[in-house]
Amino acid sequence: MNRIVNFSAGPSTLPLSALQETAAELPDYRGAGMSLIEMSHRGKQYMAVQSEAAALVKSLLGLSDRFTVLFLGGGATLQFSMVPLNLLGAGKSCDFTLTGAWAGKAFADAAKVGKVNVLFDGKAQNYTTLPDPTTLTVSPDAAYLHMTSNETIGGIQWRDWPDTGAVPIVADMSSDIMSRRLPLEKFGLIYAGAQKNLGPAGLALAIVRDDVLARCSDELPAYLGYKIHAKNDSMYNTPPVFCVYMLGKTLRWLEALGGLDAAEALAEERSGLVYAAIDESNGYYRCPVDPNVRSKMNVVWRLPSETLEKQFVAEAEARGLSGLKGHRSVGGCRASLYNAMPVEGAKALADFMKAFAGRA
Ligand SMILES: *Cc1c(COP(=O)(O)O)cnc(C)c1O
Repeated sequence: MNRIVNFSAGPSTLPLSALQETAAELPDYRGAGMSLIEMSHRGKQYMAVQSEAAALVKSLLGLSDRFTVLFLGGGATLQFSMVPLNLLGAGKSCDFTLTGAWAGKAFADAAKVGKVNVLFDGKAQNYTTLPDPTTLTVSPDAAYLHMTSNETIGGIQWRDWPDTGAVPIVADMSSDIMSRRLPLEKFGLIYAGAQKNLGPAGLALAIVRDDVLARCSDELPAYLGYKIHAKNDSMYNTPPVFCVYMLGKTLRWLEALGGLDAAEALAEERSGLVYAAIDESNGYYRCPVDPNVRSKMNVVWRLPSETLEKQFVAEAEARGLSGLKGHRSVGGCRASLYNAMPVEGAKALADFMKAFAGRA
């Protein structure tokens, strides 16, 4: 076995223990004579896996009983439409912060469903910065304020959250969920695609507070309604069983690591190593992002030319440092440093960056 250091933005690196346990259990799940992905989702064994996964989500995040944890298909992208379809009924509007590519996609879907007010648009600064949250004023009658906690492509991340009074924050946390503690009282709905910090692609986690759930539409086609999924414990249809199973293993690994406090400290350490390599390069590497909002999950940077960027990515790849090419829409380089990235991986990248710049 020769595992590379995988900086891919998503799907992305997962804990080795989760992969190995899955591999060992796959042909014959705990004496069942079949794998977990071949058995009925309504059987005892799968039901136990799913309820343990939901319990881990609750305990790691510290969710009160007011929150319902849902496992849904369609990735985070289906949430871009489910959120407005459920919460933007006739005559309702919502507020948005346009902070980058992912917020833009969520905005476009919401605008097809109802009225959207833009509180902040980072386009003029190329989405490299975020406003001071205390300067954001939500519309008092907004159904919700949508925020993208971490822009995976642009490499910016909210540190603090606005005061929104009775207006719930709906947050896309796909690329930084479970990487830090959150002031949960601010959030009415949190959703995340699983393939960055939680498990395989295809699954979305949605965490809905009771008052927000109560407001959700009853008029939608079945799969689109949060209430249907909540009423059926995410078993309205066949859940993405393999994804839920691996999410459970990933979260058990995170719990053993020390939960969100440990995740936060490690994220600080990993990203700190790479940002230091950028900042101490005498301008050879340049991070285009406002230093106050630098992401601890996705670090982006440029080299003096695109030719050098290509060479950097290729040489890194040859050394087992994989997936450092920036998103095709913005170019440059990007290192995604999710929970399962070992600190040694970030250290190896920082060392390579120093050596590469030293040769210039
Ligand atoms: C990856 C990502 C998505 C899209 O997730 P899918 O599962 O591919 O739909 C949405 N939002 C953010 C912030 C992401 O990082």
